[in-house]
Amino acid sequence: MLLPLASGVFTPVAPGDRPASWAVTGRLGGHSRGEFFGANIARHVGDDPDIVARNLEDLAALVQVQGHNLALMDPIHGSSIAQVTRPGSFNGMDSLVSEQFDVGLVAMGADCVPLILYGSRGNKRPVISAIHCGWKGLVAGVVAATITELRMQGASQIQSVVGPSICGSCYSVAPDRRELIRTATPIDVSQAALAVAGGIDVRAGVLSQLALEGITSIVVGGCTFENSKTLFSYRRDGQTGRQGIIIAMHENQGQP
Ligand SMILES: [Zn+2]
Repeated sequence: MLLPLASGVFTPVAPGDRPASWAVTGRLGGHSRGEFFGANIARHVGDDPDIVARNLEDLAALVQVQGHNLALMDPIHGSSIAQVTRPGSFNGMDSLVSEQFDVGLVAMGADCVPLILYGSRGNKRPVISAIHCGWKGLVAGVVAATITELRMQGASQIQSVVGPSICGSCYSVAPDRRELIRTATPIDVSQAALAVAGGIDVRAGVLSQLALEGITSIVVGGCTFENSKTLFSYRRDGQTGRQGIIIAMHENQGQP
């Protein structure tokens, strides 16, 4: 069983809305051992595949979907968006967008920011998204691109949940990386991301981008680097697991 850091439900407001369950995980619970100890949900990091499969099943259960009904990303730190119509693995994608019922969209990270979006469309069922965003994602504009995509698909009101990531104090970088963010993102975003001298706070940048678009966010979890018992951090540990975030929309208005 995975113990989420937080979980909740986007509840219907508009006539076409359907509820969507979400959960944010850390290390707590899960079956992994050693450097992957706890709730590692990544298959690509060297953990036992059978154990990861069990963790993924438990992850799916957090949002009331079957273990085989997950949509997973194999992200490349870009801004490519996959339109998900079936579960599976989506290579080369940093963002998943879907209007399917009972498919869990998953974003993971171990310092990068995992986040989800829920876009109400009035009389039509919502469109949902899961996004992976590190500093390269900020530069590539994956969050802004996904918001644009959701709006193009009719989303009029968007809500967000943003998971844990490394903070600016723990993530010092070479000046050229900061310069790339400064030149590639809106001024509010770069100011938020670069508020700590010499560092990058990707989550602050993501939250600023969301706020610029009028999107309210629930923020879950602290700095990955500082919380070794509860969160995976690639920068701290090198070979380690991944935490994540999941969202699944349900057809029924009542609790699934
Ligand atoms: Zn920190």
